[in-house]
Amino acid sequence: MNILIAGGGIGGLAAALSLNAAGLHEVQVLEAAAEIRQVGVGVNLPPHAVRELTELGLGEALAQHGIPTSELSYYDRRGKLIWAEPRGLGAGYRWPQYSIHRGRLQQILFDAVVARMGEAVVRTGQRVSGFVPMAAGVRVQVADRSGASSATDRTIEADLLIGADGIRSAVRQSADPALGALATNGWMMYRGTTRSGRFLSGSSMVIIGDEHLRVVVYPIEPGVNNWLLVRPAECGTDQGGTDGVATGQGATAELGNWNRSVEPRAIAQCVQDWTFDWLDVPAMVAGSDIAWEYPMADFDPLSQWVFGRAALLGDAAHAMYPFGSNGASQAILDARVLAWQLAVQPDIDAALVAYQAERLPVASAVQLANRRQANDVMVKVSAMVRQDEHAGAQAELKEVEARYKRLAGFDAETLNARASWSVGGR
Ligand SMILES: Cc1cc2nc3c(=O)[nH]c(=O)nc-3n(C[C@H](O)[C@H](O)[C@H](O)COP(=O)(O)OP(=O)(O)OC[C@H]3O[C@@H](n4cnc5c(N)ncnc54)[C@H](O)[C@@H]3O)c2cc1C
Repeated sequence: MNILIAGGGIGGLAAALSLNAAGLHEVQVLEAAAEIRQVGVGVNLPPHAVRELTELGLGEALAQHGIPTSELSYYDRRGKLIWAEPRGLGAGYRWPQYSIHRGRLQQILFDAVVARMGEAVVRTGQRVSGFVPMAAGVRVQVADRSGASSATDRTIEADLLIGADGIRSAVRQSADPALGALATNGWMMYRGTTRSGRFLSGSSMVIIGDEHLRVVVYPIEPGVNNWLLVRPAECGTDQGGTDGVATGQGATAELGNWNRSVEPRAIAQCVQDWTFDWLDVPAMVAGSDIAWEYPMADFDPLSQWVFGRAALLGDAAHAMYPFGSNGASQAILDARVLAWQLAVQPDIDAALVAYQAERLPVASAVQLANRRQANDVMVKVSAMVRQDEHAGAQAELKEVEARYKRLAGFDAETLNARASWSVGGR
């Protein structure tokens, strides 16, 4: 079976490794970027994703390059603890939870693909621009990197095309341009990393703030903290950029573009009085070399991910607000299930139907839950905290987290007991 993967991000590379592990070796990854570079900031991988990467033989690499997250804590904007729970091994999982630089994770996957499948498997500078269905396969259009028509444009035939080409997927667009219209709740997210030293346990993930302004922090290397600042509206910071670096574009920023840099010191003004004895938030934000601006973007759950012999995976299928540590995780789960189904089903079409049936409902539920987590949950919890009803806020957060783990596939009991998606595994 000849398989083309559009996109060499976390989802596409995890798919290549999963297919190879499942005995499907005729795989080619086409990546639009000129090279695989370590871009982005941190991602957090809960145990359901770590299990899959471990079963792909990457457990040691994760342990070497990631920080095992030991707890998740919520604090109010005065720095007072609302609620905390253990994470990873300490919460009874058979696999840890890791925080890691997104680019490092991508590099770990890329290195494993090259080591196991050969250098020629990933071809960079290759932008998939669309596909045409064939009787039993697909004809894939590949443009030069700029997307402009050129002499190097060509078509490649394959038995299966996997669209792992991110939130602005060309494969999805080609299947049906009406699908996946990007939407936003108007919130902006700013991201950065700062060598600001250890805080709390040295492996804590904290969520500070309320429905108006929130900061998430976790270390991705000893002493290097990844931060995300999320706010629904301007907070008077959009001035004073230097060197042509933007200071915040608010609602005019382009949806789905991860590469827009902003001036960190301007962003730090949003949290200028958030100096606690356990973490100096404004100093940490201002101390970042560079920060990245990303308007919250997702799309409504799709009703189908499979279009003949083209199947969507990862953000192309289910881009979601980056709450709950599930963007990369759900992509990794897609990759594993798709490979497993292709290996165990009698034919490709049956496998694609089974893949969609297994993964679409779960990822769609996570997309919708992330929207709720962005809005309703924090409104409710913050109202209770402001009225000093901390017991109510704790109960609410505990229930929300437990429900989220169940629907995203990482409550400890189910995950620990679930059969493996490794072919021949338990
Ligand atoms: C540059 C970048 C930075 C990011 N930073 C963060 C971050 O800091 N925090 C976070 O939570 N998430 C971040 N993300 C998103 C996160 O990686 C994904 O939500 C998650 O990992 C799911 O992965 P994916 O493989 O589905 O999509 P992505 O990680 O977006 O990967 C898609 C890949 O497809 C390639 N591609 C796009 N179009 C085409 C095409 N037409 N043909 C061929 N290749 C194509 C892209 O270059 C990319 O390598 C970032 C994504 C990108 C691309």
